[in-house]
Amino acid sequence: MRKGITAGIWSLMSTLFLLQITSAAERPNRGVSYDVVITNGKVIDGSGNPWFHADLAIKSGKIVKIGKLDPKFGKRVIDAKGMTVSPGFIDLHTHTDLPALADGNVESKVRQGVTLDVIGESSTLDGYFRRLNKKGSSMNIASSVSPQQIRKVVVGFDDRPASAAEIEKMKQLVAQAMEEGAVNLSTAFTGGGYKYADEMIAMAKVVAKYGGYYGTHLGGEGEQINEELDKAIRIAEETGMPVHIYHIKVRGKNNFGKVKDVIKKIEAVRARGLDVTANQYPYTAMQHPWTRLFPTWVQGMPRKEAISKLKDRAFRDKIKADHEFAEYVSEHGGWEGIVGTVFTKPANKQFEGKTILEMSKLRNQSDPAETCFDLIVDEGAFINGVHHTMSEDDVKFVMQVPWVSIASDGSAVNLKEPGKPHPRSYGTNVRVLGKYVREEKVLTLEDAVRKMTSLPAQTLRLKDRGLLKEGYWADVVIFDPATVSDPATYENPQQYAKGVPFVLVNGTVVIDNGNHTGARPGKVIYGQGKNGAGKQSRGSVS
Ligand SMILES: [Zn+2]
Repeated sequence: MRKGITAGIWSLMSTLFLLQITSAAERPNRGVSYDVVITNGKVIDGSGNPWFHADLAIKSGKIVKIGKLDPKFGKRVIDAKGMTVSPGFIDLHTHTDLPALADGNVESKVRQGVTLDVIGESSTLDGYFRRLNKKGSSMNIASSVSPQQIRKVVVGFDDRPASAAEIEKMKQLVAQAMEEGAVNLSTAFTGGGYKYADEMIAMAKVVAKYGGYYGTHLGGEGEQINEELDKAIRIAEETGMPVHIYHIKVRGKNNFGKVKDVIKKIEAVRARGLDVTANQYPYTAMQHPWTRLFPTWVQGMPRKEAISKLKDRAFRDKIKADHEFAEYVSEHGGWEGIVGTVFTKPANKQFEGKTILEMSKLRNQSDPAETCFDLIVDEGAFINGVHHTMSEDDVKFVMQVPWVSIASDGSAVNLKEPGKPHPRSYGTNVRVLGKYVREEKVLTLEDAVRKMTSLPAQTLRLKDRGLLKEGYWADVVIFDPATVSDPATYENPQQYAKGVPFVLVNGTVVIDNGNHTGARPGKVIYGQGKNGAGKQSRGSVS
């Protein structure tokens, strides 16, 4: 017996000895072991835990070691002394679809440390992903499928419930999008939210089967907030699937403070087991086209038709007589809070960044509504608007809710973006880290990072991103907590983030000492329904 044990110990020792030789053979002098080593930083791992000192080793796109490391093992060494090292930021609500194809460097986002954008309120994904992969992107991209786009494909613009056969067709198209790799069903912003519950629930159930979630704009973020919130909760109730609400808020001066009741209501449904979460952008203004100022019957019309009818006196008067028009204008900040961002006609350029009230004065018009109609007709488009309509206190209150993540509702753009767009595309994440963490102490740094990393990763059910963890993809941000900030303002929005010297995407350095390297290591992040429900576990496939 004793002999057996001794022999066992000897064999174990010789195995260890052999292992030692093998690992010694891999050591430096004969070559470096890691692609990148990040040393001397304070690590915030994304979980919400306090920072700790550690080095990070990256190889073949993944984090392979976190701990004490000798820098000489790295082909590239980044000294992060005085810096915070965190996971790349994940943005659950963006409009990066077309901008990523136009400029794959996706600078306004990646310069803030964003390494994954969720895009898409479209109906087909395959072609988009192919184009994206061909052009390359400096960040990872995941996509949603839009029930409204699917409805347009199947039913067109008719405002009527879909037939049983049409609902079947919708379900098929949703299933196809999920198998092409969509991560969720994402409802676009339409006044009044979904009208036909049967078809929305039918489509949502398909997404639930594929492990996706229901991402939703509430159909009213002002007076109708309660009914619209109930519609979202109903989806959670009837499908059992996670529901994620985009940019939760209650807008309009008359409604300041009411967002507390909305949060309370969601807390109550969470307490009875419904998986409802939300996101938020850290600004008191929103951005979307002036279309949303109009009564829902106008919003539902084909754009061209609505614009051409706006020339008619009777059509204008009908709009002005509709209580929804007054209500929506007020919820958007009133004529003194609604700004035009971009105009195409040279004569109208002077109005960029101005409120409709200011424009009406410049045009010597007494009724700002007429100014609004005239300019839409003149431009041949529903002008894009920034709307100053929230309270700063409400923004801070929502930011402290544990299940609310940070998302921009912006796009990955560059400095050539015209006009005076909302600064959120350039500043969302760094604004939270600078203004709300460092200056106003609304959040701890660790909690702010959690809300941009592991929390959105959990909504996406990602198993290999959103944390700094061995075996995870090396999406890494190195920022200076003392200087990180958002120079982008409403008056001068086209300014990149400050205080983010290094960003790595899938282990490749994209922002290097504050400069974009031109590298495009981004991958398409597919939902777990890719190629059939349950066939493949959630993960990243390039
Ligand atoms: Zn949105």
